Amino acid sequence: MPPSIHRRQFLAATASASVLLGAAPRRPPGPGQPIVIASANGLRCVEEAMRQLQNGADPLDAAIAGVAIVEADPSDHTVGLGGIPNEDGVVELDAAVMHGPTHSGGAVAALRNILHPAAVARLVMQRTDHCLLVGDGAYRFAKMHGFPDTNLLTDEARQIWLYWKETQSRNDDRIPPPPDQLPPFIKAFFGPNYIREHGTIHCSALDSHGDLGCTTTTSGLFFKIPGRVGDSPILGAGLWLDNQLGSAGSTGRGEANLLNLSSHTIIEALRQGKHPQDATLEACRRIVATNHLKRLQDPKGRPNFDVRFYCLTKDGRFAGSSLWAGAKMAVHDGHSARLVDCAPLFDEPPPPDA
Ligand code: ASP
Repeated sequence: MPPSIHRRQFLAATASASVLLGAAPRRPPGPGQPIVIASANGLRCVEEAMRQLQNGADPLDAAIAGVAIVEADPSDHTVGLGGIPNEDGVVELDAAVMHGPTHSGGAVAALRNILHPAAVARLVMQRTDHCLLVGDGAYRFAKMHGFPDTNLLTDEARQIWLYWKETQSRNDDRIPPPPDQLPPFIKAFFGPNYIREHGTIHCSALDSHGDLGCTTTTSGLFFKIPGRVGDSPILGAGLWLDNQLGSAGSTGRGEANLLNLSSHTIIEALRQGKHPQDATLEACRRIVATNHLKRLQDPKGRPNFDVRFYCLTKDGRFAGSSLWAGAKMAVHDGHSARLVDCAPLFDEPPPPDA
């Protein structure tokens, strides 16, 4: 390493180089207008993905480059670096990708110590005959392909986890700090709106040739049981695409999507001729219809959790829906990045713990 390059700069350069591993050669622009959508924490993601598309990137590569910004952002506690750890204090990441032109996909789950799981998922797609690698096998695969080790547990995320652990039981010997000594970030994290303003990132991209790519990447449920895997790395649940129809993805309660293969449902609704708005609302309705467990219902029998869906069609239409009101999504249509409203199934704010 040249002496003028500081170690941290070197590691940052190595990490961002890993985002490019497996990226396709650029191609000249086609006749169409590129469009990128993402979950509400993805404004910078859609900007970067659009920049990539305008420079001729493959749509999946553009989406991966976009979410890499959020994966590397320590202030987003739901994705990548700074993600909230599992109940043992270890950050475990899930991610998946799908590539429209080849209808292929790859995923990693419960991956530790690797900053860019979506880029690893692309290599699973390209350099194995499999769709999903988990845990230590996924880690060793990433290392084999040159991904550097990264300590994903930031000091802020560790303090949030420690406070959670200290407040779990009155029957142990741990004592949380008095409320007036809590740092503001802990108060904000345990406040009512945290997960609605953050919470996993999905990105779908349409390039100027009409090809689609998408990715969903997350640190998953806060304080999860070690080894718990959500919907994000499961093809059909946390994301799905058909290059002839459109691309879809989700954030929110992963178990609801695993039990309904929601992203697949959205694309099949497009196949039936539905508008993307109706297609995403259809996925919301399925969740309501199958949510039979009382512990997951509010007093009126509706889900006491939230799920949000995002859909981009091959002809450039897009829409988002959520079970409860207030959700937004990020969009870049080639002119500017902006947040737009998702259509709620229930026109009320989410229940307190959703
Ligand atoms: N869907 C993610 C999971 O279940 C979490 C989230 O989006 O909030 O792991």
